[in-house]
Amino acid sequence: MFLMSDTVSIAPVILLDGLLASGSSIISNYVGQSYSFTVVNGNQYLRDLGASTGHVTAPVGTLKHEIQLLDFYELIAKENAAVQKQIYSFLTSKISIVKKPTIVHCTGYASYAFSIQLPVKHIYWLHATLDDRTERLLHRYKIMASKDQKQQVKERLNELDNLWEESLKSHLGINMREPEKQQETVIDTANMTTEQAFQKLATIESFIETYNSLASLMPDYHEEWRRWQCLVCQLVLESNKIVVTCPRCNNSDPDKFKDLD
Ligand SMILES: [Zn+2]
Repeated sequence: MFLMSDTVSIAPVILLDGLLASGSSIISNYVGQSYSFTVVNGNQYLRDLGASTGHVTAPVGTLKHEIQLLDFYELIAKENAAVQKQIYSFLTSKISIVKKPTIVHCTGYASYAFSIQLPVKHIYWLHATLDDRTERLLHRYKIMASKDQKQQVKERLNELDNLWEESLKSHLGINMREPEKQQETVIDTANMTTEQAFQKLATIESFIETYNSLASLMPDYHEEWRRWQCLVCQLVLESNKIVVTCPRCNNSDPDKFKDLD
């Protein structure tokens, strides 16, 4: 799984990673806005793919939708080499056209594996507990869940973790339960708001150094304009900075903006 034969010539990137619902989408967007990074959102791509292939049919913002997504991720983890190849192609095609320093995030499992093949300058791993991730997943979509439903989500996340753990270990020799042994930098987000986690990332010396080296590799980076579509009200915005809030409907969910370029 995940090992692609095509080699591509692409600019180096920073990878921000973590297990599902560890906060990588929102923190990547903070980075994009604060540092004028291009943000490549693998999560949003997976959500689109789940919908377009008929695996995710329930309306966004419902518990059923999130459960269907978890099932879809499980399918990807288990056997679907074609979907894996699509994700890899999506990430590499996005990275191949960027002119700015770029941060990539995806569902943790997938991008973690891809990182071996992408020209990654630095990886930051967001660590969050299973309880935290369950809360964040539900909170983010303002899903009102009973105690039983919460437990159901938690168990599904745990099953998925186990599945990916096994898969990554046997195929790539990666132990994702011990990210500190694999990663150069781990940010423990326990008891932190997303703003605090971003502040922590932004002050890590290697992050500043990596940003500076990426910026010097891409001298024209300030000139990149992209088009973003708000997936809530469909407004298309053109901007040389990542759009974090839709001016029409105030949508600020990082996974509900589509990069049209
Ligand atoms: Zn909108």
